[in-house]
Amino acid sequence: MNELSQKRLRKLPGVDKIIEAAKSDADFVPFSQGLVTEYIRKVIDRLRARIIADPSEIPEALLTEDAIIETIKTQVRIAGSPNLRPLVNATGIVIHTNLGRSVLSHRVLDNVYKVAAGYSNLEYDLTKGKRGSRYSLIREILCDITGAQDAMVVNNNAGAVLLCLDTIARGKTVIVSRGELVEIGGAFRIPDVMIKSGACLKEVGTTNRTHLKDYENAVDPDTGLLLKVHTSNYSIIGFTASVSLNSLVSLGNRLQVPVMEDLGSGTFVDFSRHGLAAEPMVQDSVRSGADIITFSGDKLLGGPQAGIILGTREMLNRIKMNPLTRALRIDKLTLAALESTLQLYRDETLAVNEIPTLRMIMAPMNEIEHRARDLRDRLLDLHAPDMKVDLLDLDSRAGGGSLPMLEIPSKCLGIRVTGMSPNTLEKGLRKHSPPVICRIENDYLVMDPRTIQADEIETIVDAIEAVLGT
Ligand SMILES: *Cc1c(COP(=O)(O)O)cnc(C)c1O
Repeated sequence: MNELSQKRLRKLPGVDKIIEAAKSDADFVPFSQGLVTEYIRKVIDRLRARIIADPSEIPEALLTEDAIIETIKTQVRIAGSPNLRPLVNATGIVIHTNLGRSVLSHRVLDNVYKVAAGYSNLEYDLTKGKRGSRYSLIREILCDITGAQDAMVVNNNAGAVLLCLDTIARGKTVIVSRGELVEIGGAFRIPDVMIKSGACLKEVGTTNRTHLKDYENAVDPDTGLLLKVHTSNYSIIGFTASVSLNSLVSLGNRLQVPVMEDLGSGTFVDFSRHGLAAEPMVQDSVRSGADIITFSGDKLLGGPQAGIILGTREMLNRIKMNPLTRALRIDKLTLAALESTLQLYRDETLAVNEIPTLRMIMAPMNEIEHRARDLRDRLLDLHAPDMKVDLLDLDSRAGGGSLPMLEIPSKCLGIRVTGMSPNTLEKGLRKHSPPVICRIENDYLVMDPRTIQADEIETIVDAIEAVLGT
């Protein structure tokens, strides 16, 4: 070891000394003593190793007690913070699967908090004073809203589809139109789910056209189910034909074969009455008389991740007895969030005003424009000479495999910074804490106010300021 190494090593404070100093430092208070001590040792050990390897590499200024404590603070903060953390969705995609799909309202979260913080009647019948079923808690409200005979809820819609196919069609064939063999993303493909459930897929029709007689000709004694899948993330246009759920149900009744619909997103609200393209409504599917209908809790419904199954009492009884139900069961926090979300749907106006997903999708242009101008003014207040902020007429998207063709007109901020590419800007904002996720379009960094919450404006201004270094 050379002389410089010796000198630097002598400068390095001892672990005990830093532990003592950390005890009176308020910044360490939120973290456990064990975590802090672990990082004190780690940081000092690492510095010691670097000094021995190459003493000239480390500036003396980094070896002061203050500098070392700063380094430890940064590392403890990173290690002590959850990896799953909130961020700002400025993409304008409302139901963004990668960003957690639904935002829950405070009213819903209050209920989740109450249920999570104590014991609950999750599986306890308060009238009888004995074991109850978690599914019964939510059955009535689902039936009230949709008109279904019976209902239950599992972990997600993929699980719901798997469970239903496994119960109804294991060892039998399931008839599906070629135009509806969808892949949802994240490896959910109807043909693959079919294999897992032990059912055998029988495709009918062609990609663009499927007729009732195609289904009819395909039914034989092995047929267990006629399945209709909502093509949620694409749309076949041009010379097309598909069979309505109503016609499929008539055929099923005539040939004594059950009919199921995977609605994907599913909504209780008539979007066409709010100036948007119509999305299939759950109530209509129920009215058509399908034996089973499944859809997601966290797409257009705007609730927590869940898979909702509606259907006849007979079908639901069979599904409830399937051992897979236990593996796919919904947890109590989800149940609490879902029940309070459903309660909002007892009054459509309340639902549209209080469920963030619906509120964002239906936000009127003047509100979006107001928010865009607001944010632009706040950014211009930074007086960054290299930054230009334009208002652009771009579209938001509902996302989440819903309203596939629907682009909702929006007023976005287009930001350009001289000497900085949109990609560099995008990356900088993404790495900010909390991260701000934007999109890039026409060489602009684009922020869409539709998905930005009112209390996030400050965060965005801070993030831009940090990235520009103003
Ligand atoms: C989204 C979707 C699914 C999967 O639902 P998850 O709730 O994400 O599991 C299944 N089928 C269709 C048609 C969908 O759109």
